[in-house]
Order: sequence, then structure tokens, then C-alpha cells
Amino acid sequence: MIWCPQCKRLVEPALKREEKRIILLCPSCGYVFATSLGVLSLDEEERRFKLWLQGLMDVEIAEKLGLSDGCIRGWRERRGLPANRPNRRMRTYKPFLDAVPSEWTPARKVAEKLGCSTLRAAKMLKRLAELGYLERVRRKTEMGNIYFYRRVK
Ligand SMILES: [Zn+2]
Repeated sequence: MIWCPQCKRLVEPALKREEKRIILLCPSCGYVFATSLGVLSLDEEERRFKLWLQGLMDVEIAEKLGLSDGCIRGWRERRGLPANRPNRRMRTYKPFLDAVPSEWTPARKVAEKLGCSTLRAAKMLKRLAELGYLERVRRKTEMGNIYFYRRVK
């Protein structure tokens, strides 16, 4: 997943193959993240874009294609794509986002659903709220003040 600067959402970019180029665009607003540059064949560009979309790091893409890390890094940077990182991949947020219903829910419930610690769920949900994907309120409960989350409509 990638942060779209135009519609300010976390989106899964769409790969579109046209007659002479390939573009990566935001499925919600059409913002173009990257375009093939005409140096490589469209098949080769597509192969690399797809691996990048899967969240693979430069070193992993390079390994799969039998190329050097530097080669993939250069390819990615020339197209303005951010590097995928091992523990900062946006896709790690997706299960948390999906686990939040449209009614107000505490992080504890989401943690139970996903089988992770409440602390981890709270951290992920807080970040998703900061990114504008979830709404967050603080409520007084028997267990103290707790944050509740729900999906943005
Ligand atoms: Zn967008």
C-alpha cells in the first residue's frame, strides 16, 4: 500500500498497461505514481512493477530477477517509487484496517479478532487514525479512558 498525495488515502496502486507504456496509478483518484520510461521492454517493466507492488525490497526484487541491488534501486528511483522496507510495509496495516467495523470499537476487540497484543493493535490503529483512515475518540469506561476506533465513512 502506498500513501496517495492527492486523495490522502492509503491505496493499493493499480498497474495499467497501455500500448506503449505502463503506469502505476491511484485506483481512487487516478493520480499517477510512476510511468515506464521506455528504456526497458514493457514486459520487463511490468515484472519489476509487480514485484515492487508486492512490497518486496530492492534486494528481494534483484534476487528474483538475477540482477544487482543497485540496478533495481536505480530503476525504482528513476520512477520516483519509494523503497519498500521490511517492517514499514503499508500492507502490514491492512489486516488492522479490515478488522475495524463501522461501529466504535476499542483496540482490545481488534486485538482479540486478530490474535495479537492489545498494545500492537493500539499502535497500528493510532497510526491508521493519523493517516485519516480511521476515526478515533477517547471515552470514559469502567476500565479508564480508552480510545475507540471506527472506519471513516
Ligand atoms: Zn489517490
